Amino acid sequence: MKTGNGDIELAGIVKSYDDGQTYAVNGINLKIPDGAYCCLLGPSGCGKSTILRMIAGHEDPTSGEIVIGGENVVGLAPVERRTAMMFQSYALFPHLSVRDNIAFALRVRGLSRSDRYRKADAMIEKVRLTELRDRLPGQLSGGQQQRVALARAAITEPRVLLLDEPLSALDEHLRIRMRTELRSMQQDLGITFIHVTHTQLEAIALADIVVVMDKGAIRQSGPAREIYSAPRDRYVAEFLGGQNVLSGRIGEINGVRATMNGALFSEVAIPLPAGKRLETGQELDIAIRRDDIELKPLSQKGMLPADSASVEGTVNGIEYQGNFVKVMLQAAGEDEFVAFVPERKFFEENLAIGEKVLAVWQISHTQVMA
Ligand code: ADP
Repeated sequence: MKTGNGDIELAGIVKSYDDGQTYAVNGINLKIPDGAYCCLLGPSGCGKSTILRMIAGHEDPTSGEIVIGGENVVGLAPVERRTAMMFQSYALFPHLSVRDNIAFALRVRGLSRSDRYRKADAMIEKVRLTELRDRLPGQLSGGQQQRVALARAAITEPRVLLLDEPLSALDEHLRIRMRTELRSMQQDLGITFIHVTHTQLEAIALADIVVVMDKGAIRQSGPAREIYSAPRDRYVAEFLGGQNVLSGRIGEINGVRATMNGALFSEVAIPLPAGKRLETGQELDIAIRRDDIELKPLSQKGMLPADSASVEGTVNGIEYQGNFVKVMLQAAGEDEFVAFVPERKFFEENLAIGEKVLAVWQISHTQVMA
């Protein structure tokens, strides 16, 4: 089978410090196909940048293999790996023009002046900076600086571009715009991007593959939709957000359904997922999306459709979010149980703090995380 140039495989990667006292990365296995946009997502200190630095060759793993395009690159110098890194601060040379910043790596590689400028100008056009070609970085906006940084990294024709928190220096508005640009530039260039971020929305908006990390290990990786709508465990569900997680024990198992009982609730019906064996008494977590929760008056308790499950809760917070209203409940023993109620519906029903309600969802919308 032909291996694409920018295929990456991390096999059993460990990076430890202080003679094995500290692990920055502990047993990473991951395959990223050529031309994919991959986001490493996780809280600060979970090992994301260490992985990026090891792929770039700024550090070597304590053990494990990093295979790019079919070749183990551990031990190779950064320039031999055909990867390029784009940093958070962009690290542009302040005294060089846009054009010279972009052409810089070609000068290091010994290309003639005319070849450098010919290639740089083609790249400048690609990132739509032609009019700004002679400006200094200080005369550019944050978004334009980011395009220069990207062009400067891409000019070396890397097979993999590594981006360390590339959007975090930008304000919210620009960040969302540049997100779209990053994605379209990645598609234009047709190369593998590995983008480190601690921002959930950034990862799910951009990536073909989202890799959720925790303490030097991968918790779950896959397409954004899968990670968001089918989290494997409480950590992933809570980190991605948008979910309510309930903990309990399996009660009765009955055909395709079971009941789950918690410390502060009983008899929530759950679907039995195909391919998993659940047993009475087993502890498990379930997740229900906040936008799948409907709030109903307590009086409807005995009248819910047979395909729905519910818990009781007391409204303890209401936040207007524009197109929906975030209603926070004290429910089922969780710190936070939230329903995203469509804006119009919320104002028709006039819910108030202190009110007792039923939080209702369809049993089939439950994600069983056992
Ligand atoms: P992230 O990019 O997810 O914020 P890092 O990869 O920078 O995380 O760091 C992962 C962990 O490894 C952190 O706990 C950090 O303190 C530790 N670490 C990183 N570099 C070193 C080092 N040179 N010596 C000791 N510990 C390190």
